[in-house]
Amino acid sequence: MKYIYGNWKENNTLKDVLSYIKQFKKQKLPKNIHFGIAVPYLYLQKMNQKLSKKCEIGVQNLSFSRNGEYTGEVSAQMLCDFGCSFSLVGHSERRQKFKETNEEINQKVLSALQNGIMPILCVGETKQEKDENKTKKVLKTQLTKCLKDVSSSKNFMVAYEPVWAIGTGVTPTKDEIEANVSYIKKVLEEDIKKIGVCVLYGGSVNPQNAVELLSGKSVDGALVGGASLNAVKFVDIGKKLAS
Ligand code: PEP
Repeated sequence: MKYIYGNWKENNTLKDVLSYIKQFKKQKLPKNIHFGIAVPYLYLQKMNQKLSKKCEIGVQNLSFSRNGEYTGEVSAQMLCDFGCSFSLVGHSERRQKFKETNEEINQKVLSALQNGIMPILCVGETKQEKDENKTKKVLKTQLTKCLKDVSSSKNFMVAYEPVWAIGTGVTPTKDEIEANVSYIKKVLEEDIKKIGVCVLYGGSVNPQNAVELLSGKSVDGALVGGASLNAVKFVDIGKKLAS
């Protein structure tokens, strides 16, 4: 089974969502490919009602707190009420633009797990960190801090997303992806004692490059931003992988 998760980011109006649902429903989905889409909160319920039989629907972020004086936040418990099954956590845009720390991300991971929402923890190095040969150190620190006190190996995934590859059209080679994903699995197994966790690759994946980029034996699938905004392109990534 390969996993293809989409991240719509802050895109799509209700009109776009309705036409996306129509387009997605028209597609013949490939076997052995699991699709999921992380949508803006407001579309969670509609997408779930219309697409949940074909595609898992989740969100892009959640609150680290359960409830209280956190104006503007949405808790895992609230998301549960609307059938949210997964959430991205620690996406690099949130780390960079909203200054999320590994400690806050850890609280979000724990909150998601306590409420039966699967966190997809995003980790990855910046261009500067890559150039300074710090990729492994960065990945290990992010994994160790963000997964602190997580007791089970089940019900979470990790997405390896080099920050410099997100939305840029520039990607690592398939060998670089495989090396970093297998390093992540090694850290998960040896340092964090988590066996069998799925690890996705994310960063400028599209129908043309998906087969090549995801060909490493450790890579369990993809997290897709831009190309997930078009239902045909998004499903096409799965079709290419399945064929
Ligand atoms: C992302 O937002 O997680 C992502 C991978 O974006 P893109 O596919 O557009 O690079």
